[in-house]
Amino acid sequence: MNYICYYDIIAAVLLSMLFALYFMRRNYPTSTNKAYLAMLICISLSTITDLISIYTIPRADTLPLGLNYAINILYLLAYNGSAITFYSYVLTLTKPKNTTGLTAIAYTTSAIVMMVLLPTPITHWGIYFDTQNNYQHGFLFPLLYVCSLLLLVCAFVVYFRNRKKLNRYQVVSILFFNVVTIGAVIFQLLCPRHLVGNLASALFLLLVYVSLQGPEHYIDSNNQCYNQNAFFETVNRYMKHKTSFTLVAFTLDGFQYINQVLGVPAGNELIDSIVTFLHTSFGKKNVYRLTGCRFAIVLEDSVEEDTVTSVLMEYFKTPRTIQQLDVLLTPYICIVHYPDFAETTEDISNAIEYTLKTAIATHTQNVITASQASLHESQRKTQIIHIMKRAIRNQEFQVYYQPIYHIETGDFSSAEALIRLWDEHLGYIPPDEFIPMAEQNGMIIEIGEIVFRQVCTFIQNHDIKALGVDYIEVNLSFVQCMQENLAQQLADIMQEYNIAPNQINFEITETAGSVKADTLHRNMDKLIELGSTFSMDDYGTGFSTANYLVNLPLQLVKIDKSILWSAMEEQEAFIILRHTVEMLKALHKKIIVEGVETQEMVDVLTEMHCDYLQGYLYSKPLPEEDYITFLNTPFHS
Ligand code: C2E
Ligand code: CA
Ligand code: CA
Repeated sequence: MNYICYYDIIAAVLLSMLFALYFMRRNYPTSTNKAYLAMLICISLSTITDLISIYTIPRADTLPLGLNYAINILYLLAYNGSAITFYSYVLTLTKPKNTTGLTAIAYTTSAIVMMVLLPTPITHWGIYFDTQNNYQHGFLFPLLYVCSLLLLVCAFVVYFRNRKKLNRYQVVSILFFNVVTIGAVIFQLLCPRHLVGNLASALFLLLVYVSLQGPEHYIDSNNQCYNQNAFFETVNRYMKHKTSFTLVAFTLDGFQYINQVLGVPAGNELIDSIVTFLHTSFGKKNVYRLTGCRFAIVLEDSVEEDTVTSVLMEYFKTPRTIQQLDVLLTPYICIVHYPDFAETTEDISNAIEYTLKTAIATHTQNVITASQASLHESQRKTQIIHIMKRAIRNQEFQVYYQPIYHIETGDFSSAEALIRLWDEHLGYIPPDEFIPMAEQNGMIIEIGEIVFRQVCTFIQNHDIKALGVDYIEVNLSFVQCMQENLAQQLADIMQEYNIAPNQINFEITETAGSVKADTLHRNMDKLIELGSTFSMDDYGTGFSTANYLVNLPLQLVKIDKSILWSAMEEQEAFIILRHTVEMLKALHKKIIVEGVETQEMVDVLTEMHCDYLQGYLYSKPLPEEDYITFLNTPFHS
């Protein structure tokens, strides 16, 4: 028969183009990409051997028989291989849950194809050349078609069941392959001279190429570094195969200023140079850029981790030059061993996130190994955020009141409102733990309002004036103070509950003054105009305190408990406390000292002429009703 080979020639051209396209880009080795490459190889091999066999079969008389066998066996192996690789391609795309049965089908059909084809020069089961050297099909030849067909049917079933997991291109291309292969088989039965099978497959590969994850999904186009998606794929792959690995993740303190001061292009330039260094030092395939200036190096061998950390520390010891500026970046490194504690990729990313953040915040250690503890901490953090959200929704926050003693009158003339939060699993969650989180994610705005409304309700429901209480102290977070409309909001709430503004004293911290001084000033002025007062909280724990004392309209200053406690321990700290009190007096500030736990402290502070005392000696923070009872009970010192 005179075969028409033009279809195969077009297929061959198309396939070489696809090969070139595939290898010109840097691919991340996902299982789908690998299955695609395997299909490309099988279909190309099948096309080439098909073309060669068109030439060699009619010349079987003159050519060595072994060569003809080899070419035809190779063709049939590649042809069946295309079906197998197509099937595994569908499996990698759809990732069905239970693959044992599906894999068994692939192995069985491959075994049958091998069994029929490999011994065929002797057994003549698959193909053979008869005594006249004519090419003939053996009695098991139809089995090869059955195997291919079976695989196509299985692939179709898997595809159909999981089609929702696929994108549009994938749905279309797989449907196309199934329809076109069947169409091509029928067409070839009717017109056996037209070898259209390989062309159909090549067209399918072209369609699939469009639907393959583009490299930008895994690779940063600027510097060719694997990205976070690639990182998660890799970690997932290791975990799936239970292979141990060590991960060195690091971030650079100081990098954020480069973007801010020199601009984003300068930041990118620096990142590119760091990527080049990492690629040359640790190999392209091991380096991942997670986000911003956070990188990870994944190693199969834990012995290397020390080398990696020392290479990194050494590299960043010298300043990096960027736009003629020398910038010193400090690396903070987190090491994760798998399978030490992490069970999921989420565990790993949480542990890295938590460890690096803590390392930067504390500035203590440059290299920290992530542990079960860090994972727990980060899980606790996530839990607390959920609890806070729930508490906001269900109004679960409570406000306690800690009485404040006025030395001059001997009355508990004020109290500090302190927020309380409980959870049935975590128990009591201290505000020192959840308030900073709420400040970070902005929830403090809502929480602050909840506290303030509760305080107002409390004042509205009890005649606190009659109980000898002049005002309640309410803590304002620096995040609240940054809100331009804070004063208006608070004023509106006070009006809503009919509260005289002079019954409220707001406590602010230095941080509030350091972020948006103008906004803070405007807010303070407005509330002071209405009659409220302000105090500086946590005095003595920050830096440039004196500046704020002069510039901000503060009536009261609250000396932090840590200052009092160290003054009771050390002579030098005592001198500092005494001079601090003297200075504040000279500036005409009223002084509160918190953390008063002993009579000795009372004596010392009274002798120094402090105005107010707050501490466990008098009372712990109390729920509303207990606070009222406390106020009604005469105090005997
Ligand atoms: P803070 O403003 O410095 O509040 C004083 C803290 O010291 C309170 O802790 C109080 O219970 C504790 N304290 C008072 N006297 C003594 C004492 O004699 N001994 C000891 N050991 N502790 C004493 P608390 O209630 O755990 O609050 C911690 C921090 O949480 C507060 O520190 C404040 O910064 C923040 N916070 C509490 N409630 C609120 C709120 O409603 N809004 C905001 N923004 N922050 C709040
Ligand atoms: Ca306070
Ligand atoms: Ca304090």
